[in-house]
Order: sequence, then structure tokens, then C-alpha cells
Amino acid sequence: MSGRLVLLGSKGGPALRPGGPWPTSTLLELGGRTIVVDCGLGVTRGLVDAGSSLKTLDLIFITHLHSDHVLELGPLIHTAWTAGLASPVRIYGPPGTGHYWQCFCRALEFDIEIRIVDEGRPDIRTLVTVEEFAEGPVLDEHGLTVAALRVDHPPVTDCFALRFEHDGRSVVFSSDTAFFPPLAGFAKEADILVHEAMLESGVERLVARTGNGARLREHLFASHSLAEEAGRIARDANVRRLVLTHLIPADDPAVGEADWIAAVRKTWSGDLTIARDGLVVGLSGAKAASGEETA
Ligand SMILES: [Zn+2]
Ligand SMILES: [Zn+2]
Repeated sequence: MSGRLVLLGSKGGPALRPGGPWPTSTLLELGGRTIVVDCGLGVTRGLVDAGSSLKTLDLIFITHLHSDHVLELGPLIHTAWTAGLASPVRIYGPPGTGHYWQCFCRALEFDIEIRIVDEGRPDIRTLVTVEEFAEGPVLDEHGLTVAALRVDHPPVTDCFALRFEHDGRSVVFSSDTAFFPPLAGFAKEADILVHEAMLESGVERLVARTGNGARLREHLFASHSLAEEAGRIARDANVRRLVLTHLIPADDPAVGEADWIAAVRKTWSGDLTIARDGLVVGLSGAKAASGEETA
């Protein structure tokens, strides 16, 4: 069965700038399932614009609890609920995800209670279950398997790459990570590797214009991967396509797609997609889907 990947939000970090891209979230349609991977700000808007009905929300995976990956998790489910969601939703996330969800429901208690009474909606708190996972197998259901690998994203320790497989198709998400060679084994022969990436020259400019520059620079280089490092993982894993996302910087007018391509081509000569909000990557293994960008 074919599927598709939609890059809903393609920037790294929580900041928004005029006309710029949204933080991280991705829609994966695989094996007839609707899977959301990470819920940065803008995920709800992105799903609706991608033509995905919020009422069919099914599986949500959170790779780690940085806000650019989890901020809109509660608002997404709540908005789906007010749009008529009546079927169960399962959230898979690292330890702490249950706490987030409970606190969100408490914060929205007034609205939740009033809509149950006033609009006759099912209780959102019983529609949603949270499964906190660790490294290893996460899910095996109707031919869909999901596995997690702990990656290197200090100071966050519970940060996981995810591998989704169904009927011979596989998609791997690096999550946020410094260059992490074990990821190549985890992503072996995947159809698509979605890897985070920084552009070195762009990061230096970003650091130069930021107040807390030295500290930011130290964090970025200790916790994230350069585009050419993502290319090395893709090459060592022998994946069919590399998709660069969680781009840092993502909103510097001096940085264009050609700069990303030049950096990653130092290490990766295979199929390549540089993410943009709303970009669709087909998973049929055959022809490129409409709107797909190849470089
Ligand atoms: Zn991030
Ligand atoms: Zn992070």
C-alpha cells in the first residue's frame, strides 16, 4: 500500500517570524493509518491544510518534550474533539507525556466540562490514552510496527528516533540529535529518512544576531546535526531518500535551498528533499507525488 509524508512544520526551534515556517510536525499516512509525528505550533492548521480530517486523528507520536515538538499536542486533540472526534486517540511519547496531557486537561477543565454538558460530547479524557515508551519496540498492530532508538540530544535524555514500517515500506525520523552513528543501523534501507539539519554558515549568522549567542552556539553544536552529517547517516544507512527538516536556520533570507543542497551533497548523492511547510513526499516507491520536490 502506498502512503505519503507531509512536512507540516519544517523549522527547528519554537520562534516564529513574519512569513516564516512553523515548528516541527509531520503527517505520515502509512498502511491506511493517519500518524502525526511531533506537534509543534501550527500542527492543527497544517493537518487541515493537508486535507486530513481532524475527526480521523488516530496515532500521535512525540519524539521528545521540547516545546517545538509538543506545544500544540493538547490544542490539536482539543480542536479535533470540538470538530467531532468520537473515536479513541492514542498518544505515544517519552516519560512526562502523560503529565503534559493531564495538566492540559486540567487547564481546559472549564471548557471541557461545559462542552460535555452543553454539546453532548464524549469526555475527551476517556477518548485519549497516553502510552509512554522507552527504547525498543513501541507498537505492533495490523501490520504496522514502530520502534524507538534513543538519540543524542543533550540535555534531553528521553529523545527518540522512530522507525515506522508497514508492508515493506519504512520511514525513519531522526528526531533532534547530534551526529549519531547508531542511527544509520536503525534507519537501514529505509524508504525515507527524515533527518534534522543545521547549515553551518547560517548558524554562525544566527548566533551573531542573537543576544545569548555563545550559549546558543554551544547548545546547537552539541545537540544537533549539520546537513553533511545527516547525509553521512543517510549514506551509511543506504536509504532511498533523505528528507532534511527541522532546519536551522529556517528563516534567514540569505539561506536558500541551494545552500542546503550544496552542504548535503558533500556526503549524500541519492534522492534528496529539503523540507518546506506543506511539502508532500510520496511513499509509493514509484513516481513522485504532485508537489514533491526532488534535488
Ligand atoms: Zn527541536
Ligand atoms: Zn529538541
